[in-house]
Amino acid sequence: MASPTTTHSDGLPLGLLRVEPRHGPVREGKVECNACPVLCHISEGRVGACDRYANHGGVLVRLDPVVFLSQQSQSSEAQALHARLDAETSPQTLPAIDSAERGVFITGIGASTTYPDYKPAPFIVASKSKGVDMVTVVTEGIFSYCSLKVKIDTDRYLGDERAAVHYQGEEIGHVTTAEYGSQMLSLGGVHHLTGGGKKQGRMALELMHRLGNQQAAEVQIENGAKVVLQAGCAPVVDGVPEQRMRVGCGSAAVGMFARQWLGLCDEVVVVDDHITGVLTEHQAGRGLHMPPSGIRINGRKSTPGRYFQVAAAGTGWGGTDISDPLSILGEWNPEEAWPGLRLLMTSTTGEHAAWFVLDEALQAQPAEMPPEVQHVVERIGENCEPSLVSVLFLAGAGGSLRSGVTDNPIQLTRAVKKALVNVTCGGAPAYIWPGGGITLMVDVLRMPANSFGTVPTPAIVAPIEFSMKLSDYQALGGHMGFVRSLDDSLKNGAWHNDGAPTQLKWETPPAGVNPWPLDNPPMLG
Ligand code: SF4
Repeated sequence: MASPTTTHSDGLPLGLLRVEPRHGPVREGKVECNACPVLCHISEGRVGACDRYANHGGVLVRLDPVVFLSQQSQSSEAQALHARLDAETSPQTLPAIDSAERGVFITGIGASTTYPDYKPAPFIVASKSKGVDMVTVVTEGIFSYCSLKVKIDTDRYLGDERAAVHYQGEEIGHVTTAEYGSQMLSLGGVHHLTGGGKKQGRMALELMHRLGNQQAAEVQIENGAKVVLQAGCAPVVDGVPEQRMRVGCGSAAVGMFARQWLGLCDEVVVVDDHITGVLTEHQAGRGLHMPPSGIRINGRKSTPGRYFQVAAAGTGWGGTDISDPLSILGEWNPEEAWPGLRLLMTSTTGEHAAWFVLDEALQAQPAEMPPEVQHVVERIGENCEPSLVSVLFLAGAGGSLRSGVTDNPIQLTRAVKKALVNVTCGGAPAYIWPGGGITLMVDVLRMPANSFGTVPTPAIVAPIEFSMKLSDYQALGGHMGFVRSLDDSLKNGAWHNDGAPTQLKWETPPAGVNPWPLDNPPMLG
């Protein structure tokens, strides 16, 4: 078998994606990259400021491979395809069979861009899904309007809502509204990228880039905790890895386990920063005919058995600042309490728990927890999910990159809203916010690793793909003259590639996580 060709006839190595040169005066020996507003003039053998483009023998090339996905990752046939593509990107070694029917999808990762957006997207790829003619418009978007929403599964106090979040000494975000069992951060965004000093913009960009690419980064919350964040990993709060996401609030925990405590405890208090639950007062205890215990809680009573503000927020019991659970109790009511009363106090994760028995003076005395009670406490822990960090990328795709899809950009926006167009980022499904524009949100863990790049404007570079029926693409004024078959795109790269084959990288979508981008039922209608 002949060994694969390694260069083009002009000496450009196979695998490098040639991109459009600029038409204008550039100093001899340099090429100008116009793939973002920085307009780097790149010397022979050097790369541009973003490390994504290079001058190779006077030709501007995109350095990273284009990532594509295959549905048939487990089949031997697909493995053979993988091997052939890895073996190198010579057109002679690419499969001759119709990739459209094999379930191959070109992502925007490494695809190059439409910027400055007067030109069609680099890949406008025809394929088939369930017998329907499809088209996917593929590009790398350059996003100045983008941020990360970070969900941290912990009830520990990280900082006040609206507290600033710092990275490398620069303010790059804030704590936003907590959700059920999770603290939330909003990081990056246009104000931090553009509204402060240069270093602030750079640090906001660096943080988004790291977290988007599933890497770890440490942030400091104003008057709060130092937290190490990494998508899909446990958060590390002030040096301690978080283990458990709480089972629910204190009231919910009382409801869940009331029946299991019946007969074992005379009173149970589930300590929680937000809603502390008290079993015998709670509807659950009353429904089980438990007699009142005479307990008094230092906090603001919301409804029977549910108390707010029993302590300040912190990293102690149930996300409060307490280490002694008895500190939230007042005097027992002698009309109702009795010597020998059995009291369980626990946190919402079961990580903290203590057993007390009232003495003759109605004072709670620590005692050894009976094994049956310990078993129920352990069940609280068993019902906690692992504490994780989730990172969602939010970006506005309703701007000029639409011109890479259609001459009439509003038609794309309307088609996305009507679900005629499926929007994906690196093949991962994007949620589109209601209202104006194309504001998308995607879980970075559903994207291939290292999907994000940066340019020093500063802005994030992220892959985006618009898939739709070919007939719908025509109807919305798509660039029909640039539609090419999937096989042709795999062999020859982007349309402006001048016949230079594209360097390809195989990615297997996580099994069972993402729907196939071309199988969106509303789109197929
Ligand atoms: S920073 Fe912008 S102009 Fe410079 S090489 Fe990267 S994409 Fe091109």
